[in-house]
Amino acid sequence: MRTNDFRKKRKQMVEGQLKVRGIRGERVLEAMEKVERHRFVPNDLKPNAYDDEPLPIGSGQTISQPYIVAYMTEVLKLKGEERVLEIGTGSGYQAAVLAELVKEVFTVEVYEELSGRARQKLSELGYSNIRYKTGDGTLGWKENAPYDAIMVTAAPAKTPDPLKEQLEDGGRMIIPVGQAFQYLFLFERSGQKIKKKKLLPVRFVPLISVQ
Ligand code: SAH
Repeated sequence: MRTNDFRKKRKQMVEGQLKVRGIRGERVLEAMEKVERHRFVPNDLKPNAYDDEPLPIGSGQTISQPYIVAYMTEVLKLKGEERVLEIGTGSGYQAAVLAELVKEVFTVEVYEELSGRARQKLSELGYSNIRYKTGDGTLGWKENAPYDAIMVTAAPAKTPDPLKEQLEDGGRMIIPVGQAFQYLFLFERSGQKIKKKKLLPVRFVPLISVQ
């Protein structure tokens, strides 16, 4: 498949999967149309890169369905100057979408191999505003906290406290929580108060607890 075919598929993905389901943010739609999702999936799955489903990326992990990537990005209401923490680097696809939209992305992955591959891919693609860490994302990334936004792309049974603590005043966090049944939750901090809102039912791989 050629670059042009992929471009066409991306346009169809934006129209047929994102806009029709209510993704409205211009900047989010532009980023989804720009980032080449097929670069982040295994070779044999490239023809399926723009399908309406999650895809396996190796080590038993998956890259989320495009709609979920766009939805989680949209609810963070990113304007451009933010510093964002992502937990679960995986293929690096979501990090690339975020890097299109904000000043700096900090991404934490528990598997060294996945982190290394994503780092290499994203630097090949020219992203210079992403910082990488291999380690347990349930602890966040304290050295660079607080963050204007946090996105967690694997599901813990319960929201880790360090992530709430590393959220800036006025900041937002989107996170899937639960075991057999999971929901996306949106947390919003104002001062010492944190508001929690239940959004969609979802299915993510578990956030591994290393402690
Ligand atoms: N955002 C990714 C998809 C993530 S899949 C993408 O766009 O491709 C979930 C990822 O979370 C997997 O790569 C998994 O290895 C990672 N993960 C699981 N537990 C973790 C933990 N405790 N800390 C950091 N990453 C973790």
